[in-house]
Amino acid sequence: MLSQGRPYLAIPGPSVMPDRVLAAMHRPAPNIYKGEIIELAAGLIGSLRGVARTAHAATIYIANGHAVWEAALVNTLAPGDRALVLASGRFGHGWAEMARGLGIEVEVMDFGPTLPADPDRLAARLAEDRAGRIRAVAVCHVDTSSSARSDIPALRAAIDRAGHGALLLVDCIASMGCDRFEMDLWGVDVAIAASQKGLMTPPGLGFVWFNDRAAAARARRGEISRYWDWRPRAAPEALWQYFDGTAPTHHLYGLREALAMIAEEGIEAVWARHEVLARAIWAAFDAWSAAGPLALNIADPAARSHAVTACVIGSPFGARLQDWTERVAGLTLGIGLGRSPEDGYFRIGHMGHVNAQMILGVLGTIEAGLQALGVPHGAGAVDRAAAVIAGAAPAG
Ligand SMILES: *Cc1c(COP(=O)(O)O)cnc(C)c1O
Repeated sequence: MLSQGRPYLAIPGPSVMPDRVLAAMHRPAPNIYKGEIIELAAGLIGSLRGVARTAHAATIYIANGHAVWEAALVNTLAPGDRALVLASGRFGHGWAEMARGLGIEVEVMDFGPTLPADPDRLAARLAEDRAGRIRAVAVCHVDTSSSARSDIPALRAAIDRAGHGALLLVDCIASMGCDRFEMDLWGVDVAIAASQKGLMTPPGLGFVWFNDRAAAARARRGEISRYWDWRPRAAPEALWQYFDGTAPTHHLYGLREALAMIAEEGIEAVWARHEVLARAIWAAFDAWSAAGPLALNIADPAARSHAVTACVIGSPFGARLQDWTERVAGLTLGIGLGRSPEDGYFRIGHMGHVNAQMILGVLGTIEAGLQALGVPHGAGAVDRAAAVIAGAAPAG
């Protein structure tokens, strides 16, 4: 009834695609053997280094996030090598399953679905590994299912404190272009991301960044599938070698536009915008949770993602609220991934091309849904969120 107008797909990926990105893709196919697409690909590599804050190699795969999980593993670890996966939700376990399927010996350190990875537990485990059997530590910067954000510099410091040589592999699929991430400064050896979240481009591109330590692990690893090998992709002599085949031409035009938008705003400003919008959402939940079943999944603000927020509303309201906001108001909320719908979890995606009026719209719509469905909740949530937005923006 009230849903006509521009819908908001507020799920944690695919995110809102900017019109500029879509318009850039709306064009004839370019010649892939000569001309501008060749410089375009080379320019993208430079921009990708910029968003990950690294001077090291950046590679592009025609792939989703699961595929770059595999790319990161297969270039650095051989079957029989041991990896320690730190899990704070469904995606950590998913990466571990991927590794097992590749014959890697996987040890999972499970922090449960409400806590980030604990650096002290990591340091203690690595200190026991005197033989250095653990070759890599893999962790999601943000686990999108729980919205827990792990402290990557603290995890790096834990590895160093233990005097351990393991590589640090970080899944930034949900965080890249949303939460501060500094690959080189933080000592991350391999980082991965995908196009459809903070990078505002349709699903279909995966990215792998790797430093010299990771390149040395690749050199020791020997032959792997030509498609997954990151070496030709990082040092291509012809356009096809970036992609091991036909370039994803239209995605590249879209990605160029998205990365230009990030560069125009400035990556620091992009991170700051996500932080303020996330704080507005948390402020609303502080009010809602004062009475009734609503609560944030992650208690500690320092361990919360700035790109996605997982929340609990309790049975049977979760599915009903999602149905109401979509049907009545044109707002699609994310499902509670890794939790049954009966548990009453849902998620808000606030990554990439989102601004203050969209987030205030999401929160106002949830408020309306709570009222319409008779879900008990504390008052003043939208006021609290508006105060965060007002406080972040100086007048004039
Ligand atoms: C979305 C996501 C994935 C999976 O990406 P797909 O493109 O769906 O394969 C993996 N890890 C994290 C942290 C994600 O947010």
